Amino acid sequence: MAATVLVVEDEKEIRELLRRYLERAGYGVLTTGSGAEAVRLLGERGVDLTLLDLGLPDVDGEEVLREAHGLGGVPVVVLTARTSVEDRIHGLRLGADDYVTKPFSPTEVVLRVGAVLQRARGTAAGAAPVPSYGGGRLRIDEARHEAVLDGAAVELTPTEWGLLTTLAAVPGRVYSRYELVNRVRGYEFAGYERTIDSHVKNLRHKLGARGPELVETVLGVGYRLGWSRDP
Ligand code: CA
Repeated sequence: MAATVLVVEDEKEIRELLRRYLERAGYGVLTTGSGAEAVRLLGERGVDLTLLDLGLPDVDGEEVLREAHGLGGVPVVVLTARTSVEDRIHGLRLGADDYVTKPFSPTEVVLRVGAVLQRARGTAAGAAPVPSYGGGRLRIDEARHEAVLDGAAVELTPTEWGLLTTLAAVPGRVYSRYELVNRVRGYEFAGYERTIDSHVKNLRHKLGARGPELVETVLGVGYRLGWSRDP
């Protein structure tokens, strides 16, 4: 059965644009420009995913986000014009499953909606294989937002988590600092490239004795994950 996406966006043009693209991709679509209405729809309709603009005129978007999670953990992809690092981190702490910063390409939004839904279904079915590295010593469970090293959970900040998951996507591949900033932050942030090193240092510290061997420095180029992914 086609999944139903609730689009919560007060700008009519964006709302209708998203509706068109989502319907073309085969989704059932509900739309509203009001946060209060969104909360009502979440309560009474079978919504599989919410696409949520954080800047709403009535109810704060973040309240809608909390509501969606309270109601059986409906996944949320946040649309936001707020581009500051703090806002993105704040949103992730609140538990947004993904982020799209305005202006966005509607095709990209549809792709992200599909990825989040697939992840959510995998988790529900217990079917999503959790990738492991180094012969099962490191496990990265993206759905549960959890890194486990040698049997112990590692508490990571959003940036450290972003660094680790980025490096782990293709073990052995070298990522430059510039690339890491863009992948972890999703955009360029002046001066941030220089601070990547300190985030890597913190990440290694949290990974304990395994840190330096797990996150390797490639001199003059960048960083890579030292352990290979298990088959
Ligand atoms: Ca808005």
